[in-house]
Formats: sequence, structure tokens, C-alpha cells
Amino acid sequence: MDFRLPDEHRMIRDAVREFCDEEIDPIAQEIENEHRYPAEIFEQLGEMDVLGVPVSEEYGGLGGDQLMYSLVCEELGRVSGSVGLSYAAHVSLATKPIENYGTEEQKERWLRPLAEGEYVGGWALTEPGSGSDASDMDTTAERDGDGWVLDGTKQFITNASVAGSVLVKAVTEPGAGYDGISTFIVDPEADDGFSVTTEWEKMGLNASPTCEIALDDVWIPEDRLLGEEGDGWEQTKETLNGGRISIASLSVGLAQGASEAAREYAREREQFGQSIARFDAIRDKLVEMERKTERARLLTHKSAWNYDQGEDVTLESSLAKLDASEAAREVAEEAVQVLGGYGYVEDFSPQRFYRDAKLMEIGEGTSEIQRLVIGRELGL
Ligand SMILES: Cc1cc2nc3c(=O)[nH]c(=O)nc-3n(C[C@H](O)[C@H](O)[C@H](O)COP(=O)(O)OP(=O)(O)OC[C@H]3O[C@@H](n4cnc5c(N)ncnc54)[C@H](O)[C@@H]3O)c2cc1C
Repeated sequence: MDFRLPDEHRMIRDAVREFCDEEIDPIAQEIENEHRYPAEIFEQLGEMDVLGVPVSEEYGGLGGDQLMYSLVCEELGRVSGSVGLSYAAHVSLATKPIENYGTEEQKERWLRPLAEGEYVGGWALTEPGSGSDASDMDTTAERDGDGWVLDGTKQFITNASVAGSVLVKAVTEPGAGYDGISTFIVDPEADDGFSVTTEWEKMGLNASPTCEIALDDVWIPEDRLLGEEGDGWEQTKETLNGGRISIASLSVGLAQGASEAAREYAREREQFGQSIARFDAIRDKLVEMERKTERARLLTHKSAWNYDQGEDVTLESSLAKLDASEAAREVAEEAVQVLGGYGYVEDFSPQRFYRDAKLMEIGEGTSEIQRLVIGRELGL
């Protein structure tokens, strides 16, 4: 169910849905069990031109908007939270900022391969000692001749072990607070001193690599600074406005996937001589699941739509992210319950949606932080 989307958006959504049903859904549990990043899926997504949905065609993207990108995140989430998370980190965190803040040369060198799907990217803000209070970082970048030297540790970085480039936030002016942070483009292959020190085993989303990375005296040339020196925090805030919409979209997809799985099962499963969907208790759960999913979808589409109109969506994107991530966890939990014992085993998808949904309440700003942002936006 959706309000009438523009034809172009429906076309992309339907093409991605078909690909998801045919290529991702059949391996979604297997890649979790194997903790395997499905490189072949990302290659195919690249061939379908969706790794650069909101990037202009001039730089190898699809020239779509945030709403179109949101629909793709949703479809991926409907079958695999892992693919959706790696995709969302690649597009809104690792790719879009280069289009927004990069020079022409940087766009040719770094944006084009990301948008064309040659490889995926990562974005490194969080550190072992700073998460919600992300600006309180220890990673530094010091000028060194015609370049910079980066030192520090970044934590929980999606895609870092498979990325062709990683955007790293570092302090360039100690003591200057928000104004002392800058963004750098790092090449994990070529830049000496960059290493992935841990790839975390997680409660879900194990086909999406989550890494600790060390930056040990990494020298990079001057032209790897993204935007102006000191602009790193402003860029981060803008990037997270878009990022929250993608996590909201992914959450809607998880809720949709869990809801569909529960409905399908409830129609088939018989107890006490009738389909369990005919018991009021089960039907009410299925109705609630639909209500929450649809509500989250509307908030998410609204924030994507307003983003595309150039409006400040700090409030809407936080509301959407908060609501959709909670909806995803609640819907997935109920889906497990609807399937009874079968909901608890890996042959059925609700357990996977349940484990994956939990992250949506944590990543790109926890629910507690979303409430802080919303309160502030409401003038409270
Ligand atoms: C799978 C995964 C992928 C990730 N991918 C990336 C990535 O690609 N790049 C990246 O940079 N980061 C990434 N992260 C990091 C993620 O964004 C952080 O984990 C998140 O922002 C929370 O930070 P933290 O873990 O340090 O928790 P903390 O900030 O230590 O929070 C701990 C608890 O305290 C609460 N809390 C903190 N401050 C307040 C406050 N002021 N008021 C009320 N409650 C508060 C939090 O809500 C939380 O419940 C990822 C994390 C995971 C698990």
C-alpha cells in the first residue's frame, strides 16, 4: 500500500523488488550464517545503477532523489537488513558527501567509482570513546608538508573491510570544538597505516561488515581534505539528516518483511481446526503490524519528500527514524510470536528481522538521541 508515487519511482522500486525476491531473498539467511558480505549482490546492484541513486548522472549516478533512494533502502530491508545497511552506509554516508562537498577532481577520482558501483564506501565518525557525543573525538589530522598525517581509532565502521574509500572525521584544530573537525578521504588499499583491527560478530546484520579501524601515521596528500578545513561537523549534521531517512526506510522494509512473513504463515497454519489468522488475538497482531508499518512509511516518505524540496528536515527525519526503528523492532517481535516455535528457528525469517531491527534503534543516533533532537527542534 502506498500513496501514488511518480512513475519513475515505481519503476525503480519494482525493478529492485524483483531483484530482491529473485537474488537476495533466497540467500538472505545463508549469508548471515556464513557472516559473508555478498560482493556479488553489490556488483549486480552496481550494474542496475542503484549504487548511486541520488547522485547526478554527470558523475555516474542515476540522478534520482531522496525519495527514490528511500524506496530502494526499503526494498532491500524487506529481504535483508545486512544488504540494506551496507547499501545505506555506502550511499548516504560514503558517497553523497563527496558530491555535496568535493572538488571537481575529487568527484572524478572518488565519487564516480562509488556511484558507478566499482566498489562500496565507508564513513568513519564513531570512536571507541565517542559515539553519541561524536564530536568529542580523539582522531587527529596534522599538517605535514603538502599533506596530512592521520592518527586514531574508529569504531563500528560499516563496510570498512570491503571499502574502496572511507571518509574519516578527524580533529584538525584541537580545542576548537565543533569548528576544529575536518573530513578526509582515505584509501584503505593504498594508504599505509590504515588497517582493520576487528570485524565484529554481532547479534544480527552479520553479512554487513562492522569494523574497528586503526589509523597509524597515515599520510595523505592535501587534496584528500573534503570541503574546507573545520567544516567536518557541519557536514556530519547534514549527512546525518539524509542518513536518518535511510535508516528509517530500512526499518520500514524490515517491518514490511516481518509483517508479510507473519501474514503468510498465519493464513496457512491451522490449530484447533482453523487457520490461526481467524483467532482474534492473531488477527489483531497482524492489524497492528500493518498499522505501525504504514505509519512509519508515511513519516519516512514525508521526510524524504521534504528533503527533496530542500527543506530542513532535522525534525521530520528524526521523527521518522525514531518511529520506524521502534516499529520495526515491535513488528518483528510480534512476527516471531505469530509463528510460535517456528518463529524462533532460522528456517523462517522473523527471527532475522527481529535481530536486525534492534540496530536501527542504535545506529546513526540512538532513540534517546533522536528524542533529544526532536525535543530541541520543538523548542523544549
Ligand atoms: C552495526 C553498526 C554499524 C555502525 N556503522 C557505523 C558507521 O558506518 N560509521 C560510524 O561512524 N558509526 C557507525 N556505528 C556507530 C553508531 O552510530 C553508534 O554505535 C551510535 O551512535 C551510539 O554510540 P555508542 O555505541 O558509542 O553508544 P553511547 O553514545 O555510549 O550510548 C550508550 C547509551 O547511552 C545513551 N546516551 C548517550 N548520550 C545520551 C544523552 N545525552 N541522553 C540520553 N541518553 C544518552 C545512548 O542512547 C545509549 O543508550 C555503527 C554501529 C553499529 C552497531
